[in-house]
Amino acid sequence: MNTPNPIRIGLTGGIGSGKSTVAGLLRDMGLAVVDADAISRAVTAPGGAAIPAIRDRFGPGSILPNGAMDRDHMRQRVFDDPEQRLALQDIVLPLVREIMNAQVRQCRGPAVVLDLPLLCEDPHWQEQVQSIWVVDCSVDTQIQRVMARNAWSREQVQAVLRAQCSREQRLALADVVIPNEGDLSALAATVQRAVAQFGL
Ligand code: ADP
Repeated sequence: MNTPNPIRIGLTGGIGSGKSTVAGLLRDMGLAVVDADAISRAVTAPGGAAIPAIRDRFGPGSILPNGAMDRDHMRQRVFDDPEQRLALQDIVLPLVREIMNAQVRQCRGPAVVLDLPLLCEDPHWQEQVQSIWVVDCSVDTQIQRVMARNAWSREQVQAVLRAQCSREQRLALADVVIPNEGDLSALAATVQRAVAQFGL
């Protein structure tokens, strides 16, 4: 008998919302999670599939001696330059899509969670998932968490926030909202409830 394809859940949230924490909780509950950020890091790591094209397009200065993409260098280059940002995305995103799709196809079980930080910014993935789960908290909380996690200044966090969808835009896409303004045990309880309500 053929087993039906797992339901594809797109998990997203603005930086510092707690999306990665929720992905970890879902994984602990036994759900398959495919992580777009991890794949994106892997294709730009030493020997990664994106490295030859990045070297061709951006020159040897874009690659570290160990063969990885030089993230700091590239962040500065694309920061204020949309053309260069698109050129880098044109290299990395198709590879990430291909690997994500391959990983999703391998998943078994009732559902697979696609951990997609930029789901709101990417119509492609919005069409590929059947339910969108948004981890949500106030912008102030996002800023506090990222300043603590990354040792960034408030301005650095605000610059990333400006480049992402707004809280309202993300919430407008949500089929399921996971509020994350309380502590970690409250979050774990919220995630368990969401999974149970979804029938998983
Ligand atoms: P994202 O993946 O959305 O950027 P993370 O899951 O990495 O966010 O969470 C950002 C930071 O805030 C991490 O250091 C995480 O441990 C912490 N964090 C997330 N949710 C909570 C919470 N409910 N209580 C306390 N700390 C939290």
